[in-house]
Amino acid sequence: MSSTIVVPESVRAAFTGDLLHPADAGYQAARRVHNGLIDKRPALIARCRTVPDVVDAVELGRTQASETSIRGGGHNVAGSAVTDGGLMIDLALMRGIRVDPAARTLWAQAGVTWKEFNRAAAVYGLATTGGNVSSTGIAGLTLGGGEGWLMGKLGLTIDNLLSAEVVTAAGEIVTASATENPDLFWALRGGGGNFGVVTSFEYQLHPIPEVDFGMVAHPVERVRDALAFYREYTASAPDDVTAGFTLAASPDNPSDKLVILVACHCGHDRDAAARDLEPLRRFGPPIVDLIETMPYSAAISGSDAGYPRGAFNYWKSAFLSELTDAVAEVLAEAIKRCPSPMSGLALVPYLGAVTRVPPDATAFAHRSPGYSLLIVSQWLDPAETEANISWAKETFELCTPYLADRRYVNNLPADDGPTPHDIWGGNYKRLTDIKRRYDPGNMFHLNHNIPVH
Ligand SMILES: Cc1cc2nc3c(=O)[nH]c(=O)nc-3n(C[C@H](O)[C@H](O)[C@H](O)COP(=O)(O)OP(=O)(O)OC[C@H]3O[C@@H](n4cnc5c(N)ncnc54)[C@H](O)[C@@H]3O)c2cc1C
Repeated sequence: MSSTIVVPESVRAAFTGDLLHPADAGYQAARRVHNGLIDKRPALIARCRTVPDVVDAVELGRTQASETSIRGGGHNVAGSAVTDGGLMIDLALMRGIRVDPAARTLWAQAGVTWKEFNRAAAVYGLATTGGNVSSTGIAGLTLGGGEGWLMGKLGLTIDNLLSAEVVTAAGEIVTASATENPDLFWALRGGGGNFGVVTSFEYQLHPIPEVDFGMVAHPVERVRDALAFYREYTASAPDDVTAGFTLAASPDNPSDKLVILVACHCGHDRDAAARDLEPLRRFGPPIVDLIETMPYSAAISGSDAGYPRGAFNYWKSAFLSELTDAVAEVLAEAIKRCPSPMSGLALVPYLGAVTRVPPDATAFAHRSPGYSLLIVSQWLDPAETEANISWAKETFELCTPYLADRRYVNNLPADDGPTPHDIWGGNYKRLTDIKRRYDPGNMFHLNHNIPVH
């Protein structure tokens, strides 16, 4: 199919959003996503404002485009939200959001970011598991699984998803929930953007007005002890605690490397929170101790400044088999060699509520206790691109002996090709069956794809 997309007059007249060709005002800004490395030029950007706009856009994509991408919040580092030469279905204008405080539910359209989501929920002292950087879109994050600071208590974002509205490849508008199209609902919770364009999501919220949140930091030389402590602490801490382990450069002096233990306690009893977090403070005298009580919405935007829009990003990720001394040494050596002070190595704990959902209850398969390693390579100078990508790849190589064959789909770069088993485990076969039903032509393949054959 050609890369020229001709918009029929009837569609142009009815469309309430914007249909942007390369020469149009707004096209250049609309084609850009969070990761500054992504520089693709769609033949047409359909900036949808309403669900009928999405139906028209899907029809254009199916009948005319060489390929079709879907943009929610535009944060995926792989840049799969944009296509070179095809149609980009852009949901950034679809920002509707509504909270039902009595039912503790939140309905949001697919262009909403976690900043808007958290603000709307916080008005009622409510929250659910969502992204740690508030500019991230709810759409891609939810469809891939959804890690966040409440996951020990509330599970992943998908564990709090109640329903979704989807425009399928055939242009039909369907609802997916436990009672309507339950197979599609199962697949959306971890299967990514493979099944159609999700126009809105409905989530269960929970009363989380305040949290104890913050970090303690130690010199990287303490990495062995710190990792052993972290392993024991997270294995015995209550579900109210979600704690991460990060290696990064000191903001005061980038040549100093730090071990940073970040924790969020979302329980309602602040005295209990202080007691549960006490071991973190007792583990040696930290260089800094920044744990304090704050509104959940404040905790969740604390990392935003560290992830500026347009910075260059290259990420690698996989679950670790165990947290051993050898892993500690590899990570410490890697952070010492890291060429950018904006980069880091982080462990995300899959414990508590996440692990009490059976692995086949949703498409997301990673339900056994463990830790996902995220290698974030981030820099600003284009002349340093090669050095920073090489660092991430080399670090991943050095970690390979300690990695399990499990990968979180949302953290993978474009040139990474894990097997479907690594991402979806035993759920892959059922996913292919559902993919065949909702997208038999594999129109939605700009993702970690579930092919139809
Ligand atoms: C700075 C930063 C912080 C992050 N923090 C977290 C975190 O705390 N927790 C976490 O779990 N992940 C996190 N991530 C990863 C994040 O989950 C993924 O990048 C996710 O894809 C972002 O969603 P998006 O809508 O912004 O992405 P987009 O780039 O817009 O979309 C990514 C893909 O999702 C699919 N998609 C998006 N919208 C739709 C839709 N409406 N219908 C169907 N398919 C769709 C498409 O396949 C698209 O290519 C972070 C990423 C960044 C860059």
